[in-house]
Amino acid sequence: MKHPSVRFYVLHRGVGLHGCDAVHTDDAVIGEPPRCEACGKFIGMRAWLPPLKVNFWVCRQGYRDLIYPPGDDILVSLRFREIFADKGLRGLSSFDPVELAKVRPRSRAKEPPPAYFRALVCRSQAVVDEAASGYEAREPGPTCPVCLVGPPVSRWKGIVIKEETWPGEDIFIRAVAAARSLFLRDSSRYANGTR
Ligand SMILES: [Zn+2]
Repeated sequence: MKHPSVRFYVLHRGVGLHGCDAVHTDDAVIGEPPRCEACGKFIGMRAWLPPLKVNFWVCRQGYRDLIYPPGDDILVSLRFREIFADKGLRGLSSFDPVELAKVRPRSRAKEPPPAYFRALVCRSQAVVDEAASGYEAREPGPTCPVCLVGPPVSRWKGIVIKEETWPGEDIFIRAVAAARSLFLRDSSRYANGTR
């Protein structure tokens, strides 16, 4: 297999998996999930609409820069947002302010929290190289040319992106084996951007 010149991490998201947690408040306004205009399949979680409020859980290490609430969005600190912009990184947009309705536990919430923003993660048009990724036992069926979601696949050895199709985002969402995954570019440019 050709050694890839650009490497990515696939992040396992979810409340309670790592770091601080943020969960929508009970009065959150939840809209419709986006659908592919070509094939009609759902291509994302239901939209979380302003005003954006969360109940926040501070982890042992204190306030983190990157938080994964339920759904496809991420929360970033003001520090993360500024570094992302300063370094010209790509793949996030919107940056809507988020209110922290409750911060727990009290013992770790003595410091005032940083400002947090909800960032929308782009859906990349990067194409997965199915042969190089070792896709096996793929069910028959077409792959949509617009959303690039294909039929389910049972096994794969890794995820190889056709580099010439990657638009250059540093963070993006891409369907892999019919499930959406969050990719983060492995780059020393992040050295000061996450902790
Ligand atoms: Zn589609």
